Amino acid sequence: MFDYQAPAELLKDRVILVTGANRGIGAALAKGCAALGAKVILQGRDAAALDAVCQDIQASGGRVEALVLDLEQADAAAYAVVAERLQRSHGRLDGLVHNAGLLGPRVPLEETSAAALAQVLQVNVQAGFALTQALLPLLRAADMASVIFTSSSVGRKGRASWGAYSVSKFATEGLMQVWAEELGEAGIRVNSVNPGGTRTAMRAAAYPEEDPARVPAPEAILPVYLYLLGPDSRGTTGQALNAQ
Ligand code: NAP
Repeated sequence: MFDYQAPAELLKDRVILVTGANRGIGAALAKGCAALGAKVILQGRDAAALDAVCQDIQASGGRVEALVLDLEQADAAAYAVVAERLQRSHGRLDGLVHNAGLLGPRVPLEETSAAALAQVLQVNVQAGFALTQALLPLLRAADMASVIFTSSSVGRKGRASWGAYSVSKFATEGLMQVWAEELGEAGIRVNSVNPGGTRTAMRAAAYPEEDPARVPAPEAILPVYLYLLGPDSRGTTGQALNAQ
């Protein structure tokens, strides 16, 4: 596991947006950030599931708000509305974690339809590009903002039958590297994290034969994310890190 012990109040008053925060790694990360003092914005398309996570966080004394948005349907106008809302309510964004992801069909490329590839690229790549672009003024307004893209082992080495997902995660790494170079002067750090095998619905769908008890829970893989979101990673940008 990435070796980092987050100090209490590491993220005190930092405004952090986590996509795909209604379940899995995103929900665990949102709770982890709130517990360290952040004001967390939880994005998802399932309003009821988002609300349940928000209530959990509030019950523990955390500060949280929900942002309902379907990343498959969102267009430039929808992202502009998000940016306006956050500008009004917070005036800046200290952390942006692109966590939402779609596995897509686990079949060889020969059997992958163009529509399936487009859908996976839309959620895993296009949304991360468009949301980052729309939120740039808020990221610039923060002191040392941190953007995290979510990669995968198959985003660093291609693997048969991981088709669209693998291609999307390679594109994610490219997006991260280009943003990192372009935003360095603005003091915005951009990195990627490969969570590694983690006990979520996506993992279970990809490895149906696996005993979930043998895979780390989402709560266990948070240290690298917390490190990147806090000031201890000052100067770290353009890096592809591993949670495990
Ligand atoms: P998960 O439990 O399947 O959660 C995926 C999240 O993405 C859900 O919140 C889901 O929302 C959201 N999402 C998917 N399509 C969306 C859309 N169109 N609009 C808005 N939200 C959408 O997966 P996870 O394992 O936590 O994965 C989190 C990230 O880690 C992903 O980027 C994944 O590729 C990466 N990852 C995971 C593993 C692993 O072993 N778990 C390994 C490597 C990388 P809904 O509930 O509405 O579908």
